[in-house]
Amino acid sequence: MLRSPGGDRRMRLEHHVAVSTVISAALFAVLKSWQVAVSSFLAGVFIDLDHFLDVFVEYKTGFTLREFFDICHNGRLERLRLVLHSWELVPLLAAATLVSGSNPWVMGIAFGIAQHLVCDQFYNRPVPLAYFMIWRWRQGFLPDKMFNEFGKGAATVGQESTDVQGNN
Ligand SMILES: [Zn+2]
Repeated sequence: MLRSPGGDRRMRLEHHVAVSTVISAALFAVLKSWQVAVSSFLAGVFIDLDHFLDVFVEYKTGFTLREFFDICHNGRLERLRLVLHSWELVPLLAAATLVSGSNPWVMGIAFGIAQHLVCDQFYNRPVPLAYFMIWRWRQGFLPDKMFNEFGKGAATVGQESTDVQGNN
């Protein structure tokens, strides 16, 4: 989910639910597999649970659900690990699909994570490599590196920029 100047051009939970629903319906229509459709939908939405890990690492249990969304949407994190938001997972999941003999659950997870990353890549406007785990690790998981255009540094400069930062 997240971020944009003006706050409207960014993927949020409801957008991922909508896109995942459409993708899952298309997969069901083509592959005739409810397992692929269901696992694709779940993976496409719940990949964003990795924000919980980032928030938990910095805030422990000292936050409410409302504060959780505020932390994510307003960039109140020092590090964005986002372990599941990693393009490296896509070829690994594709390989796992092949090795498993096209297991529908594995295939669905591969589709779900891939489409979620495509959406975040285009709509959250990170720097090009931001959704590669290895690249983030080498940048110290710093949000400003992922979203340097609209990062925390910029957000502290002017009131008009404060809606811009965040994660995922
Ligand atoms: Zn996301």
